[in-house]
Amino acid sequence: MRQLADGVYLLRGFPPNAINVYLVGDVLIDAATRQGERRILRQIRGRALAAHALTHAHPDHQGASHAICERLQIPLWCGRGDVAAMETPGGISNSQAPGWLNRLQTRYWTGPPHPVARALAAGDEVAGFTVLECPGHSPGHVAYWRESDRVLILGDVLNNMNLITGVPGLHEPPAVFTPDPARNRESARRLAALEPALCCFGHGPPLRDPQKLADLTVTMPQPKGWQQYNNPNFAPGTQVIAASVMAGLGIAALGLVVVPPCVTAWMVAFTVGVESFAVPIELVREIVRVPAITPVPDVPAAVEGVMNLRGRIVPVLNLRACLAVMSGDSAGARPERVVVIEIAGRRVGLRVDAVSEVVKLAPEQIQRAHGLLLSSHGGCAYGIAQVADRLIVVLDLELLLQHAMRARNHAERHVARAEPESGQATGA
Ligand SMILES: [Zn+2]
Repeated sequence: MRQLADGVYLLRGFPPNAINVYLVGDVLIDAATRQGERRILRQIRGRALAAHALTHAHPDHQGASHAICERLQIPLWCGRGDVAAMETPGGISNSQAPGWLNRLQTRYWTGPPHPVARALAAGDEVAGFTVLECPGHSPGHVAYWRESDRVLILGDVLNNMNLITGVPGLHEPPAVFTPDPARNRESARRLAALEPALCCFGHGPPLRDPQKLADLTVTMPQPKGWQQYNNPNFAPGTQVIAASVMAGLGIAALGLVVVPPCVTAWMVAFTVGVESFAVPIELVREIVRVPAITPVPDVPAAVEGVMNLRGRIVPVLNLRACLAVMSGDSAGARPERVVVIEIAGRRVGLRVDAVSEVVKLAPEQIQRAHGLLLSSHGGCAYGIAQVADRLIVVLDLELLLQHAMRARNHAERHVARAEPESGQATGA
């Protein structure tokens, strides 16, 4: 066994990393194929295990589960959406696409059904890890996440190895084994947003580079409705900013601007102080580590300065000041980020404590701001949504934009004065 993190071990296998089994504290996670029984029992001999948990009920993860639970007299746990497949004879093969590959797996890999003692749901604790539900590759696929050292055991939401050639590399799991690829991509985006320091896959070597995960999820096909929502001619969710508002602020006409959605939308959620906020994902161009920010004189307190984004000068707003958030530090070990948004062709950076996740919000989930809430957060709250056990404030981008445009006018004048010929005014 190889130790990967505090209390996290990867069992040996052949070929190495082809089908991974982990020991986390006193819980065995996944159990390879039926043929895995001997190698697993040999390596965990002498250890007192409390339970055996699955990332998902597929033949290459539950193959030896029944045998191991019987031999060690330990309970089996799995995601609630996979319980039926795990307990029903033929459930595993019925949960996957029919065909010769399925028959082959059933014949050689699939383990017998076994009663599930505990159906895992989001937020449950397993050996110091938090259960995250990430369906798509299987209906009840779960990942295990430990915030304190940012370790993620993510099963087959992504593979870090080509299953046929054995060549390491990060990619989506093969479509033939993934009943709902769109849903799986959504799960992958949510996991990537956690910026895990260590990723432990079902297939492939461990990965200690969160940027790789983020890069892959950016290049994956976008969710349905994305282009439609991004189209300025699509009526719901778009609005012409009133000319009078512009005039009052001395801002040039901006044309169409997407405001918080009237259609179900993916949102990037982030924290500032003790609060969570969200903006529509299609306005987010990139999320970067906080670069050198050059202060600009004579701007509103909300404007932190300008940053140089590959030669492009981008004003950065300090959301703490913008939104007048309650003091308190949500960042902890999380690194601060600048979320770069683009509105009407102009980019603006939003400095946040941490980007937490990508959430999908239906319009009915968002309660419009009214009464007292309307004046909260510097007047920038569009509405508020309950996600799991938290409240997320959906920001009104019109108002953020007003801050931003004021910032940009100042910033551009400043840069123009400093270095008329070059866009590289803020290097280092
Ligand atoms: Zn697998």
